[in-house]
Amino acid sequence: MIVLKTHSELEQMKKACRISADALNVAEEIIKPGVTTREIDRAMHDYIVKCGAKPSFLGLYGFPASACISVNDVVIHGIPSGYRLQPGDIVSVDVGATIDGYHGDNAFTFPVGDIAPEVAELLRVTRESLYKGIEAATVGHRIGDISYAVQSHVTPYGYGIVRQFVGHGVGRELHEDPEVPNFGRPGRGPRLAEGMTIAIEPMITLEGDDVTIDADKWTTRTKSGKAAAHFEHTIAITKDGPVILTKR
Ligand code: MG
Repeated sequence: MIVLKTHSELEQMKKACRISADALNVAEEIIKPGVTTREIDRAMHDYIVKCGAKPSFLGLYGFPASACISVNDVVIHGIPSGYRLQPGDIVSVDVGATIDGYHGDNAFTFPVGDIAPEVAELLRVTRESLYKGIEAATVGHRIGDISYAVQSHVTPYGYGIVRQFVGHGVGRELHEDPEVPNFGRPGRGPRLAEGMTIAIEPMITLEGDDVTIDADKWTTRTKSGKAAAHFEHTIAITKDGPVILTKR
């Protein structure tokens, strides 16, 4: 069931989204060679709690940390650890916060020092695809129009699209209906209506659609072993067009 939010509910939800976005800023400030992914998680956790919010991911389905921190070939759901970031790594940080009964959810892939040009292009194009998806999120369109906008932006580069994981509605629950795939056909799927709040989150790889999941049951890697990028915003669909609630 898709839950539509009233104007005042959207206003309430903005707080959770702003804290989620600011948590990514906290991560960005400390990401550099030598920092551990656990230190990044801890800094974001402390920031969210300081704001009077709760980390949405902590304990969700048993996840053991406040943020998913995924390095290089890890697409999503990386568990923060003692791994020290190295120059040339990319690190995808996915974090959500909840306050006043609503959640925000966002992700960004950061470069660590200088990265390979082909990886830099993957980051640029994946980020662009998120905005293509957002542009398509207008009243009267359908979910498939968002999916197609993302897909058609990345496929000319020969990249893979992760199909096993998709975007989602977000609101009182972190994960609500509808699913928002990063592939699909225009004009298909649920119709977009005023008051829908969704997380659009392209997960794009340098090569191949397939992923594998580690024995820890979380860490999700590209089967090709190649790098993956992940960018996400929580947006609201309004009569005036899409509004990015997790804008940084
Ligand atoms: Mg999400």
